[in-house]
Amino acid sequence: MKDVLVIGAGGVSSVAVHKMAKNPDLFGKITLASRRRFKCDAIAESVKQRFGVTIDVAEVDADDVPATSALIEKVKPNLLVNLALPYQDLNLMDACLNTGVDYLDTANYEPRDEARFHYGWQWDYQDRFKQAGLMALLGSGFDPGVTSVFAMYIKKHLLDTIRTLDILDCNGGDHGQHFATNFNPEINIREITAPARHWENGDWVETPALSTRQVFEFDQVGAKNMYLMYHEELESLAKFIPEMERARFWMTFGEQYLTHLRVLQNVGLTSIEPIMYEGREIVPLQFLKAVLPEPSTLGTTTKGKTNIGDIATGTKDGEEKTFYVYNVCDHEDAFEETGNQAVSYTTGVPAMIGAALMLNGTWKGEGVFNIEQFDPDPFMDMLNKHGLPWQVHELAEPLKF
Ligand code: NDP
Repeated sequence: MKDVLVIGAGGVSSVAVHKMAKNPDLFGKITLASRRRFKCDAIAESVKQRFGVTIDVAEVDADDVPATSALIEKVKPNLLVNLALPYQDLNLMDACLNTGVDYLDTANYEPRDEARFHYGWQWDYQDRFKQAGLMALLGSGFDPGVTSVFAMYIKKHLLDTIRTLDILDCNGGDHGQHFATNFNPEINIREITAPARHWENGDWVETPALSTRQVFEFDQVGAKNMYLMYHEELESLAKFIPEMERARFWMTFGEQYLTHLRVLQNVGLTSIEPIMYEGREIVPLQFLKAVLPEPSTLGTTTKGKTNIGDIATGTKDGEEKTFYVYNVCDHEDAFEETGNQAVSYTTGVPAMIGAALMLNGTWKGEGVFNIEQFDPDPFMDMLNKHGLPWQVHELAEPLKF
């Protein structure tokens, strides 16, 4: 009842699989399948070396629904954990429906030819999952994932209603490269170059990408520039915390990163419009991805910490209060434990936790669910036990910006 099939063999998958193998009380047979088998073999070897656990590996193109369905039939897992790319979400949900297996992911569906992501495409699977008696859990990473659980924890224990919510994502790590992204470069650059959007008084407010900046002093990292961005959990949080007047997402970027990004944008290398090159159609951003460092290779050199959390202001027993819940994760500690840097670690651990809670029935349901719909407490407990401890601070006043 605890067997799992993980799809995708990048940094996030590597962390999740290491953590699953480290917890044999929570997970049974682990099978890892991805587009290129050698990536799975490398993870399997590291898992064997570190924890003495043998995992099965396979090669599959997750965009090929019949091939994935056949693999699921063969492996017979209780849960499919999608740690490939957002492009594969719908195909993997289809394969789960074909074979009667529950589904989990960490990022919402995004079509390849449109840098536009929203939950609508996956929420449309609600009736099909419900009728099949299956469960899909969407967004079980850090953001989305832990940031939504933090918000629900605040709503359950600290505030009666949340009036404003700010999610602050800081990566204070330094990988020593001129320019590299900490997760899949194509997905990362599409996200950062999209217009910013936040939720205010029942509507979305759109502003140009990277046009709103604030400085914030992050615990154990220091003062950093952070920029207003759109992030997918704003959509589910606005749905599940309907009383919120404002919800915003901020991410830190250094000057060097932004200068490189601007140049790459200006010369057209971040475009997703196909162009002809030497008689062949290529997508500039996919070409750029091919020449940038793979995020899973950054672990050996990355030093510093991430600090990601939620600041919520609202009322408790009629009195206005502000709480800040966050986690600090050290890149070198994450690397020592799993061979991956903290951005992969902070996503892979919550994926493992969501999977464990589904497999042991703590979180159960029929249909398509966002993480906000479940009791935050067991998830919060497991964060503390599995490497992502969190802290709660009451702030003297709401954010001033
Ligand atoms: P990587 O690019 O490192 O890994 C993705 C993996 O998926 C690669 O092994 C890749 O294969 C594989 N893959 C791609 N296409 C297919 C396919 N058609 N069939 C099978 N496998 C495929 O990305 P990350 O590990 O950094 O990120 C993984 C996921 O986690 C992404 O969806 C990302 O958006 C999400 N994420 C979520 C976060 C959160 O906090 N919620 C934060 C960070 C990431 P190959 O190696 O051959 O290219």
